[in-house]
Amino acid sequence: MTTITLVRGDITRESADAIVNAANSSLLGGGGVDGAIHRRGGPAILEECRKLRAGHLGKGLPTGRAVATTAGALDARWVIHTVGPVHSATEDRSGLLASCYRESLRVADELGARTVAFPAISTGVYRWPMDDAARIAVTAVREADTGVEEVRFVLFDDRAHAAFAARLG
Ligand code: ADP
Repeated sequence: MTTITLVRGDITRESADAIVNAANSSLLGGGGVDGAIHRRGGPAILEECRKLRAGHLGKGLPTGRAVATTAGALDARWVIHTVGPVHSATEDRSGLLASCYRESLRVADELGARTVAFPAISTGVYRWPMDDAARIAVTAVREADTGVEEVRFVLFDDRAHAAFAARLG
């Protein structure tokens, strides 16, 4: 049984086995939560991302997939990087957003992580409407076949927190 918890705050301040990053496919850093994770986690994370790019992820990490690195100076053992889809008004990309949560939990299982903190993937620069993103995130985690004991959604503002709280009921 996976317990889902909600926190309003900055994910880089959380303590968890794994912290999920809403990365972009370059893995080489960006704004939003990605920038915050690299800033607080320090250069070790980017160093490992560069190695992944020099190795089997030469073309970058595809949308909907996930990969782990060290968490550097964060209070976690791993950062799991996943690439959310950019929201589209004409194309249904919700399967890719659900895949981010599923794949991140699959990687967490491989690592043996028992507590995993997620931001609201794709709801920033990638413009996914918060209520819909919350629905997809909560459904994907509830349906996931995972050994992770706690999934913690770490929401940056009241609006995001309210959207996730409404979904959890
Ligand atoms: P994406 O490109 O996937 O949309 P963003 O980082 O732009 O990623 O935004 C994803 C969500 O993360 C947004 O809801 C944003 O408010 C939130 N966010 C930004 N910084 C943090 C942080 N330090 N901790 C938790 N959530 C954050």
